[in-house]
Amino acid sequence: MAYHIDTKCVQAGYDPKNGEARVVPIVQSTTFKYDSAATLGKLFDLEEDGFFYTRLTNPTLSTVAAKIAELEGGVGAMLTASGQAASMLSVTNICHSGDHVVCASAIYGGTFNLFNKSLRELGIDFTFVNPDASEDDINAAFKDNTKAVFVESVSNPSLDVADVELYAKLAHAHGVPLIVDNTFPTPVNFRPFEWGADIVTHSTSKYMDGHAVALGGVIVDSGNFDWTNGKFPAFTEPDESYHGVIYSEKFGKAAYITKAVTHLMRDYGPQQSPQNAFLLSLGLDTLALRMERHCSNALTVAKYLESNDKIDWVNFPGLESSKYYELCKKLMPKGTCGVISFGVKGGREQAMKFMDNLKLAKLVIHVADVRTCALHPASTTHRQMNDEQLEACGVKPNLIRMSVGIENVDDIIADIEQALNNL
Ligand SMILES: *Cc1c(COP(=O)(O)O)cnc(C)c1O
Repeated sequence: MAYHIDTKCVQAGYDPKNGEARVVPIVQSTTFKYDSAATLGKLFDLEEDGFFYTRLTNPTLSTVAAKIAELEGGVGAMLTASGQAASMLSVTNICHSGDHVVCASAIYGGTFNLFNKSLRELGIDFTFVNPDASEDDINAAFKDNTKAVFVESVSNPSLDVADVELYAKLAHAHGVPLIVDNTFPTPVNFRPFEWGADIVTHSTSKYMDGHAVALGGVIVDSGNFDWTNGKFPAFTEPDESYHGVIYSEKFGKAAYITKAVTHLMRDYGPQQSPQNAFLLSLGLDTLALRMERHCSNALTVAKYLESNDKIDWVNFPGLESSKYYELCKKLMPKGTCGVISFGVKGGREQAMKFMDNLKLAKLVIHVADVRTCALHPASTTHRQMNDEQLEACGVKPNLIRMSVGIENVDDIIADIEQALNNL
């Protein structure tokens, strides 16, 4: 039976048998015991399913991964130690030295550094395109050695919304998969596979955990991409490190995610801890409820800010004034996320003062958890830049990024109001 997404948040992935724990147990064990060498040998040869070492997987990890796979509508998922590890493995499962990726320029700063510095140093090349670029401009970014396209569905922190349907169409026309970082909307608000994406990644440290307690990431495989089109020999030629297994033949629709586990997680090892997966699973139980409240609170706050004459500008994709309003109505009719950005009149100085005046909203370098928080990039994450440099990278000196929590929205607005009135 096909359940609704809010039911899946509570129930998917774990179906205890007679007498088993009702709540997914934390299997805090690196190793698993077997009666015969022959059975263990079959596990090593990928002839049988089972657990043998937590670096590959573990009952807690696979249960929580199965829940997220169901939420996104994929064939399988792999948890990772962080969102950064998910982004890294999502690309390196496909691309090797000499390959190239087309990537939207509006992405998380950590992902930008990972791609533009660390993966470049490993020989993988990137072309960054404006997320709103025309079809022709995106097409022009593809090269003969392009192996993937990467975008964020709603970008952190600029809140650009990618036309995932268009990016999927262009990626497929070039015979390559589309990877979508879906951290901000979460599958509750947006499911990229329904619009043609092939691979989804998340930093589960954000809304999925939702309480700011456990770092983590996940990669989900739609099972829809055809890896046998001639561009991806790693999927169609024997893997000698696994007795010549051919992933596309042996694992079919789950070729990508199986290779990610058996090859990359085995070799690189950025595994999530069972304890963190358990905390993530508690967060997932309430994800649908929380997202509804984050989105409605954020929209109310954004509308309040838009009507306040001490505010210079407001950026939130749910506002009718947003250039993404129509696209969001189509892709994410339930809402986008709880993060908004706005400018306080009076530039950098007034923005810093506003930050100091906030009482309920706390100053932290994080977004997307239950507690309202705020950040002034010009005086923190981007403080080495002058006003001209800030403008050039799209961060205005007076920009405040606010992650609207699930408190009573009247209290959040009262806090903003007193902070503005005391400027
Ligand atoms: C935070 C974030 C990441 C990185 O995740 P970590 O869990 O901090 O490693 C990647 N993508 C997006 C969109 C993020 O917000």
